[in-house]
Amino acid sequence: MVEKFDIVIAGAGTAGAYASYLLAKSGFRVALLESKSGNEIGVKTCGDGLGLHHVERMSRYLTPNSKVFQNKIEGVELISPDEKTKLIIKGEGYVLDRFAWGRWLVEEAIRAGATLYEGHTATSPIVENGSVVGVKAVERKSGIVKEFRAKVTIDATGAAAVLRTKLSGWAVSEPLHPEDVSHAYREIVYVEEPLENPQYIKIYLDMAVAPGGYWWIFPRNATMLNIGLGIWGVLRRNPRVNYEQYILPRFKIRGKYHIGGGFIPTRRPLKTLVGNGIVVLGDAAAAVNPIHGGGIGQALLTAELASKAITKAFETGDFSEETLWEYNLLYMKEWGFRQAQLDVLRLMLQTLDNDDLNFGLSRKILNEDEIYHLAARGTDLSLIDKFKVLMQFVGRPALLRKLTLSIQYAKEIGDLYLAYPREKAELDRWYTQVVNKYNEYRKKIGLGPLPTA
Ligand SMILES: Cc1cc2nc3c(=O)[nH]c(=O)nc-3n(C[C@H](O)[C@H](O)[C@H](O)COP(=O)(O)OP(=O)(O)OC[C@H]3O[C@@H](n4cnc5c(N)ncnc54)[C@H](O)[C@@H]3O)c2cc1C
Repeated sequence: MVEKFDIVIAGAGTAGAYASYLLAKSGFRVALLESKSGNEIGVKTCGDGLGLHHVERMSRYLTPNSKVFQNKIEGVELISPDEKTKLIIKGEGYVLDRFAWGRWLVEEAIRAGATLYEGHTATSPIVENGSVVGVKAVERKSGIVKEFRAKVTIDATGAAAVLRTKLSGWAVSEPLHPEDVSHAYREIVYVEEPLENPQYIKIYLDMAVAPGGYWWIFPRNATMLNIGLGIWGVLRRNPRVNYEQYILPRFKIRGKYHIGGGFIPTRRPLKTLVGNGIVVLGDAAAAVNPIHGGGIGQALLTAELASKAITKAFETGDFSEETLWEYNLLYMKEWGFRQAQLDVLRLMLQTLDNDDLNFGLSRKILNEDEIYHLAARGTDLSLIDKFKVLMQFVGRPALLRKLTLSIQYAKEIGDLYLAYPREKAELDRWYTQVVNKYNEYRKKIGLGPLPTA
């Protein structure tokens, strides 16, 4: 059975549903394939936190239904491992009703004209004459295999990146290395004792509980909390075990609303997000903020930027990698270079221990505003006053060296991403420079060369 569309999108999460909305609204015939069906659509295991700036950007194209916002957030409380230091970082955002958010986006896509194929699992890209020309999918209920043919195929299947990873030998198929992933587990629970300051999300740094990452409380309200943790890098311990051992005993739980885990790509940008006839979005494109693992905003951003590049490709009638390359250029300029900068800092942060973190937070090596900018928008390295840093590191030369190195390399590697090649032909030469620069840095902070998956 063969269906024909302009664009076929696999995955109706934030990225796929929003891209479907944008493209259908522009008049394209869009098929949106989603493995889940019925009441499963919209369900996503997540911390559900989203910065206001992402919502504002989205509102240029689609104003969110107020029902999707469960709690308005005013900022973050960042807590040191010994819990003696608490930094209050101002920054508005929301804790989403994630199910309502997911459903709302799919409904908007359908209202704009996209055709939803629920209960359809995309299994592989269809490749003809060196181009992706659609997707093979199985209808779960009947087991019937279908072909969805289109000029452009979009992989928005989340971290598993079901389509791009099957394009063996293509640059876009670059696999995720276990070092570049974080594993998260979270529960949405009802607690007996109301949380103080539910307008603030809480981030606890503790390398024993969440090695390389953090554990969190994202309040939906004072007594309904999204509590979880993310462990960065090669998995040596199941996050659920740490959740049950260290975090759960701190709360009196009345009931549980939803539990679940997942993995998140937390790394530099993929070297390319396109191939002949295909583009990748959201987690499938590893577009997540490598420091805090937030990827809802980036799922929206990739959908927006890719939609622009795809619209242009339709104007020319050419769906080759060269034409779709525009999306790479938009992405690297808008977010990719910041993602790379944050990834450099992420690697350094993963080498720190609780002593370093207690020291760094208590001395306010970065102040609240600086941390906000760093985490939400990417590094603005001019924020970090070198003299101030030097003064505060008296007695910690090794830590000072690591921090200054990471700032220097974040700048250099970010600049390399800003000079992302305008053409595919230059990609390998450019990428060799990236790898060399990363390896230079990694060696200096005591890490081995960039892993090849
Ligand atoms: C525990 C946890 C906590 C997190 N907390 C936050 C947070 O607080 N804030 C934040 O911004 N980000 C957070 N993230 C990351 C965030 O959830 C993701 O970055 C974001 O949801 C990515 O959206 P997406 O559309 O790319 O992928 P997804 O939301 O994963 O959507 C992919 C969709 O594709 C479907 N699919 C998969 N395979 C197929 C297939 N073969 N065929 C058809 N359909 C398929 C899936 O069913 C799914 O609906 C968290 C992630 C986890 C795991």
